Amino acid sequence: MAERLTFPARFLERMQTWLGAEIGPFLQALTGPYRTGLRVNTLKIDPEAFRARSPFPLSPVPWCPEGFVLEATGLRPGRHPYHAAGLYYLQDPSAMAAALLLDPQPGEWVLDLAAAPGGKTTHLAARMRNTGVLVANEIHPRRATVLAFNVERMGVTHAVLLNETPQRLAERWAGLFDRVLVDAPCSGEGMFARDPEAVRAWSVERVRRSAGLQKALLHEAARLVRPGGCLLYATCTFAPEENEGVVDAFLKAHPDFDLVDPPRPSAFDRGHPEWVDGGDPRLVRAVRLWPHRGPGHGHFYALLRRAGEAPPHRPRPESDLPGRARRAYKAFCREALREAPGEDGLILHGDGLYRTPMAPTLWRGLRVLRPGWWLGRIRKDRFEPGHALAMALRPEAVHQVLDLPLDDPRVLAYLRGEPLEGPWREGWVLVAVEGFPLGWARADHGRLKNLLPTAVRIIRWGTLEEDRA
Ligand code: SAM
Repeated sequence: MAERLTFPARFLERMQTWLGAEIGPFLQALTGPYRTGLRVNTLKIDPEAFRARSPFPLSPVPWCPEGFVLEATGLRPGRHPYHAAGLYYLQDPSAMAAALLLDPQPGEWVLDLAAAPGGKTTHLAARMRNTGVLVANEIHPRRATVLAFNVERMGVTHAVLLNETPQRLAERWAGLFDRVLVDAPCSGEGMFARDPEAVRAWSVERVRRSAGLQKALLHEAARLVRPGGCLLYATCTFAPEENEGVVDAFLKAHPDFDLVDPPRPSAFDRGHPEWVDGGDPRLVRAVRLWPHRGPGHGHFYALLRRAGEAPPHRPRPESDLPGRARRAYKAFCREALREAPGEDGLILHGDGLYRTPMAPTLWRGLRVLRPGWWLGRIRKDRFEPGHALAMALRPEAVHQVLDLPLDDPRVLAYLRGEPLEGPWREGWVLVAVEGFPLGWARADHGRLKNLLPTAVRIIRWGTLEEDRA
């Protein structure tokens, strides 16, 4: 938690100018105990069903039916088996407003330009019901890996994950997307409540530099939106230079875009044109979330619509599997599955077998981390199912399932990567907790070999209790 006294004097002065009498409650909220949010993954369970079984006390986030504020307990929500099963994502409540504002629809083509670690991506995916195309891009390779991990855990099957520059995407895909999200890197003032490093790194110079980068990013993002499509700009900072200032410059340079005045729950403040020189009066239509007016550490949003109406040509992906890979995959499906995923979009990328939602001609030549749902890999002439396949299957679709109650010690043993005993027929077994998949195991001579990827194992996890130290 950040200490109030460590806030830079210049930051306090600036906030005082804008907030006036509200500065007291604002600082109190910023320095008070940080309460994170929990967003239920509606791809796997509906919010009420989760609430009924939730091990944590929850209170609703007013603007997000699947969002809750986590009340403090001794439990570690990031290490619970339900977390490993992708039943929820720990996300700041103010970040949950992005999906509400961008409002992606099933079947649409949506791009998240700065996506890691994947909070907003996985929310958009759930709202799209795993249909259409969701491209999630992250410029930093290491962060892109975390994005892939979260997309997999949450059971997202229609996402293409990239590690590209926004400029390369804009050159390649002008006008392709119905909706684009730019959750921009920023000076992170909204992170002050939980990240002392954000406080230390803050300076007015950093605010200015961030604003420069944000203007460039928003310009590239605009090229990717189809006529009639939407662009949502988001930051988790309060500085007007990075918020109203960036959108003001954008409106002046892009007369084909207009600011949308979205539906506004009572905790949503308006934008403040008066906080930037010569600010466009339309900036009142932007949205500000403050830490002292509702749950969450604060966000800024501006929803922009591009004029026109021109649905672009978007070729459908064909199945394109070499015979050897097809035979190996089919053999696995016969052996392990009652119900196999659809065959459209099946492709081989490296040694990985994927189901891509997007014709490969569109993404070939780009730095692709995952061209779609990762089903598994081809090793010699065999198919080995991937973790992403396990995480998005329904247990009923699999022949052999070890479905464990939450309090069964084998749940933690499996998550630690240990082998399990049991009378199993040779072959693939889906391990699940209360009907929600955790990963694969392979039965061999009565033992279950644990196939949970090393990165997913919770090795240090002895109990569900939080460390008291
Ligand atoms: N949308 C994410 C979520 O909800 O989990 C958070 C995104 S974070 C606010 C901003 C992201 O922008 C970071 O992952 C960062 O690596 C990325 N980024 C930094 N510089 C960038 C640049 N020049 N172009 C594109 N993305 C950049």
